[in-house]
Amino acid sequence: MASIHGPITDVSEFHEVLKSSKRIMALCGAGLSAASGLGTFRGAGGMWRNHQATSLATPEAFEQDPGLVWLFYSYRRHKALQAKPNAGHYALTELSKEMPDDFITLTQNVDGLSQRAGHPREQLKLLHGSLFDIKCFDCDRIELNNYDDPFHPLLAIDSEEDSRLAPAENTEQARAAYEDPNVDTTTINPDDLPHCPDCKAGLLRPGVVWFGEDLPEDTLDEVSEWIEKDKIDLILVIGTTATVWPAAGYVSEATSKGAKVAVINMDGLDGELGAASNLRDDDFLFQGDASKILPEILKPIIGELEGVH
Ligand SMILES: [Zn+2]
Repeated sequence: MASIHGPITDVSEFHEVLKSSKRIMALCGAGLSAASGLGTFRGAGGMWRNHQATSLATPEAFEQDPGLVWLFYSYRRHKALQAKPNAGHYALTELSKEMPDDFITLTQNVDGLSQRAGHPREQLKLLHGSLFDIKCFDCDRIELNNYDDPFHPLLAIDSEEDSRLAPAENTEQARAAYEDPNVDTTTINPDDLPHCPDCKAGLLRPGVVWFGEDLPEDTLDEVSEWIEKDKIDLILVIGTTATVWPAAGYVSEATSKGAKVAVINMDGLDGELGAASNLRDDDFLFQGDASKILPEILKPIIGELEGVH
């Protein structure tokens, strides 16, 4: 039974809408990977070791100290590889296989868990790139799904006490540089970091979208093309408040093409519901763990997930 006000929370009502939906899109954020134990760097003051995580996620930071930025991403690759895809990832994989032309997933996640759950790559649009795609800083080279851990022997992080990650002002290097400006203050000598096998000159870098960089144009084009093709019946907004561009834009594009919205999110993520606050009376809201909710609400199409916990 629908509540008098606000979005529908009844699973069987959602099942009816799902079964009659011909084209579906999903928009995923960090909440999808929460049950896999992957946190974001927004918590804990956004600090990684002694560094502000956001200050490391820029092309300028990479130019200034590529070794330090690489160690941050080496750590994140390592953590993501220790995590396992959860039932939410597998449920979306199954839905993709059932609807090869009529379901796409847009994800803000860079953790590679959807790929490792077997999500077909052509139906997975990585809005922010991937920790496991390796690009060249200078040329167009890109290598997909490189899961080497560490990516390079110099980038292995053995302990929480890695001296290369000490605050710069405390390092001997920094003190030496203060006395002699010609001393190299970078964390790892850039000459020793992995270089591009194609152009030979550029440093390899993680294939994520950094602050100040454009979102991947090809990906955005593919998404627009898919959206333009026909009407959309349903958009699943999973583990994201979808308040930032382009996520917020996709929700309104889908609804303008007739889609109902289903928000699947933890109660009060970041204290705000974002997309959920605009839900209409015939939209859906499922508050809780996406790894538990997705297999349940998608069951009419994907059946029971086997061997996934
Ligand atoms: Zn190159």
